[in-house]
Amino acid sequence: MLAAQITAPEKVELVEVKRPAPGPGEVLIEVAAAGICGTDLHIYHGEYEADYPIIAGHEFSGTVAAVGDGVTGYRPGDRVTADPNIPCNRCPACQRNEPNQCHELAAIGVTRDGAFAKYVLAPEGNVFHIGSLSFGAAAMVEPLACVVWGLKRVNVQPGDSALIFGAGPMGCLMLQAVRCAGAATVVITDLIPWRLEIAAGLGATAALLADDDMDRRLRELAPQGFDIVADATGRPEVREQAFEDVRPRGKVWVFGVCPPDSTACFNPYQVFRKDLSIIGSFAVCRTFQESIALIQSGAVRVEPLISHRLPLEQFAEALDVAEHAPDRMKVQITLR
Ligand SMILES: [Zn+2]
Ligand SMILES: [Zn+2]
Repeated sequence: MLAAQITAPEKVELVEVKRPAPGPGEVLIEVAAAGICGTDLHIYHGEYEADYPIIAGHEFSGTVAAVGDGVTGYRPGDRVTADPNIPCNRCPACQRNEPNQCHELAAIGVTRDGAFAKYVLAPEGNVFHIGSLSFGAAAMVEPLACVVWGLKRVNVQPGDSALIFGAGPMGCLMLQAVRCAGAATVVITDLIPWRLEIAAGLGATAALLADDDMDRRLRELAPQGFDIVADATGRPEVREQAFEDVRPRGKVWVFGVCPPDSTACFNPYQVFRKDLSIIGSFAVCRTFQESIALIQSGAVRVEPLISHRLPLEQFAEALDVAEHAPDRMKVQITLR
């Protein structure tokens, strides 16, 4: 089968590899769509703990092509997506029911071959039916599941006000999910005007250009500060700004991936004096079912976030688009 293999950092090759066969309890999925995300770019640049050579791709959808012994929930032809995270189910974190903190967390597209290929394998327990969702939308379930996990951690309250930094695909998913969870107002900021237009179309109460006037306008919108301030940019300096905009008793949601060795400053006296909470959320923690429901119901719209669709044969170009194209949102590889 055709696959885009990252053979070493900065090296990607289109290769013919043997089509994998499903072992006991495994499902072989013929890939229809696979999104490129920051993690894939980190793997490509050698900035992530991946095992080379690796076929990346962990946000995907497709149809079941074959099933291994003992698989009962799926049949060839079923339309599906899959949770890429495979916890060990026996380490102390797994035993505490915290599988996203598993000490030996494996992941499709990170530690084992992923979806930038004609076929991908997944354990049956990781596979989900998608009903009539489009394959493009179903390949957005994984990023939304990361957001949903964060929502559970942050515990949005009815009527909350939220401020989100960054109106990329993740920020736009956060914006919609936070509203579904009960926030009354959601303000979003970005450096790029057209991204703000998309965010406004998806229900942002206000979409502000991150310019010199932004601080003044934020204070106008929320004189006491916001209940929740979330960062979807992954820039440490933005993280620091969050502490200026959060109200006393408010929550700072650390979501965007900062470089692992970066640091951000905060004033511990402020955190103490204002009863602040700093909340991180990592990846997905059994939140696929909820994300599928949110997309199926129309509560969260994902199609407007897909900006580019390229075939697997143009994988190298797709990586470049995902990293550099000025008009990029979510870039997907489509295989049919
Ligand atoms: Zn991802
Ligand atoms: Zn574990």
